Amino acid sequence: ATMPPLLSAIANAGRHGVLVKSAVVMERLGQVDAVALDKTGTLTEGTPRVTDIRPLAASGLSEGELLRLAAAAEHPSEHPLARAIVDAARLRSLGIPLVEDFVSTPGAGVSARVEGRTVAVGSPARLLDNPTGRPSIAMAAGLEEEGRTAVLVTLDGTPVGVLGIADRLREEAATTVAALGELAGSAPVLVTGDNPCAAARLASEVGITDVRAGLLPQDKVSVVQEMEQAGRKVLVVGDGVNDAPALASAHTGIAMGRAGSDLALETADAVVVRDELATIPAVVRLSRQARRLVV
Ligand code: ADP
Ligand code: MG
Repeated sequence: ATMPPLLSAIANAGRHGVLVKSAVVMERLGQVDAVALDKTGTLTEGTPRVTDIRPLAASGLSEGELLRLAAAAEHPSEHPLARAIVDAARLRSLGIPLVEDFVSTPGAGVSARVEGRTVAVGSPARLLDNPTGRPSIAMAAGLEEEGRTAVLVTLDGTPVGVLGIADRLREEAATTVAALGELAGSAPVLVTGDNPCAAARLASEVGITDVRAGLLPQDKVSVVQEMEQAGRKVLVVGDGVNDAPALASAHTGIAMGRAGSDLALETADAVVVRDELATIPAVVRLSRQARRLVV
């Protein structure tokens, strides 16, 4: 028997390195007319590196000690920023102590008990109740102006330093943004939990003008809902636990497989298994071809 068009399209998508989970999804992919893209791990490679280690003078901590404490708190996390911090500590052969009471807050950061003290690592804006005027916030802002992601480290609630982290843009990011914009007939939107500075810099490099930064997971959902209420069928592409609610609520959700969290992979309608963004416009085209054969 000849295979129904949507099934052969799924097989074809598989050859491109995209796992499309059902014929219904294969069909829906071709209907999208708007796109929302995550930043870290989606438009960037998802293997960020620690570029700056800056203890606050008042903390009395050395660079190594600051990194060791942050790595301990991040050790149980699967976030790309966590892996960058743990790798940096390993590279310096710092012993990473085991932790207790690990808590992860998607879109904000982590905290844990390390050697009897509470260490928190995360977004400067989300970690402190009263961030204005603090030296740590000024330090973080300086790094963010250079396009870095700055994470704040606190010890028993007191800021002790800032880490600068940078990730490389994917080679095919700009061409994929352009291809998706053309296919959807509307310019893609950037939805990120990262700071507005780093977000704006990356957006300008890939040709995105609509930037929504500093978003919590639920805020990403709100952006998608706003677009869908305006009559759009939104394709969301993301990789993190923080993207899962948006992937679930969108018309179609695609997760980046290599660095993606299990929750994102399970929630998404399709998974990019071969780590190439350009496969996404390719499967949208496959869907459109198959739909022409179905009708
Ligand atoms: P994106 O939407 O770009 O993928 P996330 O929502 O995962 O980013 O993270 C948003 C921000 O929250 C990060 O820029 C960082 O400041 C903070 N954050 C989230 N998870 C962690 C973590 N494990 N360690 C440190 N900071 C974190
Ligand atoms: Mg991400």
